[in-house]
Amino acid sequence: MLKMKDILDEKDKRLRLISEEVTFPLTKEDKKNMKLMEEYLVNSQIEEMAEKYNLRPGMGMAAIQIGVPKRYIVIVQEVEDGFDSYIVINPKIVSNSTEMIYVEDGEGCLSVNRECEGIVPRYARVTVEGYDMDGNKIKVRAREELAIAFQHEIDHLNGILFVDKIDPKNPYKDMDLYRPI
Ligand code: ZN
Repeated sequence: MLKMKDILDEKDKRLRLISEEVTFPLTKEDKKNMKLMEEYLVNSQIEEMAEKYNLRPGMGMAAIQIGVPKRYIVIVQEVEDGFDSYIVINPKIVSNSTEMIYVEDGEGCLSVNRECEGIVPRYARVTVEGYDMDGNKIKVRAREELAIAFQHEIDHLNGILFVDKIDPKNPYKDMDLYRPI
């Protein structure tokens, strides 16, 4: 089971690496990591589990956040009857809306353990292509919160953190141009 201490903090330089494309079949270790990441994200969103194991709640994680510089991400979104889970290997944004949005309360990241003021403009809708764990090609159409999660996690694969996208001198720059969610 992954714990908070297994997740790299923003000061760790490994978070700046460009992660490598994954080849199939997956190694046992990568499969295990994907399941561990998924398990962490689900548990972290269940209040009693999060409390019991001291997990900071998160919706997404990229492999590099546990020190693995490979291009895969996991996103777990709470829905009406449980959780939708996306494990996407070699993910790529193949199209996006022109409309931009931002998280009104501020974006968060399991690797950024401090309060960050400011907004991060994101596409309101994205289409992501990639592969599932069996190597099948998949396509996900994401909007709103889920679209932001994909953009945030794919940024990690390129060594980018959400805080990089906030201008420290003007953290709410151009906010009128975007829609808050
Ligand atoms: Zn993050």
